[in-house]
Amino acid sequence: MPSSYLNFRFRYLDEKGKPTSFFYHQALLDDSTGIRLDNEVIAIADIYDVLRYGDKIVLTLRPYLALPKEVAENIIPNTSSIIIEIGDKLAVDTKSAIDQHRTTYAAFLKKKAMAEEGKAHLFKMMQCPDCEAVIDLTGKKETPHIYCKYCELLFNRYGELMPKSESYKVCPECNYYNRVQYYPEFHFYALPKNRKIAYQEHYCCDTCAQRYHEQTAIKNSFFLIGIPFNIMLKNKMSKGVSELYEGLTRANRLAQDGHIKEADIIYSILLLRNETHPGLLFNIGQAYYKAEMLDKAYKYFEKSLDMCSNYQPTIDFLALHKTVSWKVKIN
Ligand SMILES: [Zn+2]
Ligand SMILES: [Zn+2]
Repeated sequence: MPSSYLNFRFRYLDEKGKPTSFFYHQALLDDSTGIRLDNEVIAIADIYDVLRYGDKIVLTLRPYLALPKEVAENIIPNTSSIIIEIGDKLAVDTKSAIDQHRTTYAAFLKKKAMAEEGKAHLFKMMQCPDCEAVIDLTGKKETPHIYCKYCELLFNRYGELMPKSESYKVCPECNYYNRVQYYPEFHFYALPKNRKIAYQEHYCCDTCAQRYHEQTAIKNSFFLIGIPFNIMLKNKMSKGVSELYEGLTRANRLAQDGHIKEADIIYSILLLRNETHPGLLFNIGQAYYKAEMLDKAYKYFEKSLDMCSNYQPTIDFLALHKTVSWKVKIN
């Protein structure tokens, strides 16, 4: 079991994302307790899933649990989740620590169950070199890359992260692999008597940001104040792109807009530099899927899994489109 423990501060949020209290409460995470939120405890085994958005964490609990009073009062209606805001910039660490504990526990249970069936030797796992979650690889074939679905990073069997890939993952908006980061979203409500700036952060890839930039550039250009913001946004899109992935933003845009031939030319060049990259192969698969060239799409999805047998974005895509008669075997 992980020996790590973490103290953090939190407050409950309601369904609109508003804090339910002004002050933060204390929380503690360790393997003998689970998560202690103020004075109430949630056992690690009772956590079904953990998601993080910025400094907010959504904890989905197993349904039908008898919950402590305060936790029960903060369950978002019609769900079995609570949302907490984590103080002191500890949200990433908190999520990692919860994932470490719950994946270690799940692996322990699975190994025990397999041992009872005399199959303990078939149990396979690896620890993520970044977030330290335990990744269950039982039944998965050995491939050059391994994927951690908890922090969304790729690494090899020696535990080395894919070069320059820390900020590259599948975009939550368009589902293509690319650089994903927080973008400021500036919107101007153009009524002269009620002019205000709404500011919000936007987590998406460079292709989505580019599309978004084009949509707001015209709107914002009516106001002088919009111009520097748009320049800033444009700078953020082009800065710090890894040369390994040069052209990826454009290729994804072309693919999403239905220009498969043009996209394929750039993807082919990208493949020369990243021939075993499961995320890139996944993008090409999606591009061909959009172009309704299913045989080709299938070939790239299969290649993506040949390079990383537990690559969750490809597995999820195929599961979502399972009514299509794929010949690919997910393993
Ligand atoms: Zn990880
Ligand atoms: Zn995107």
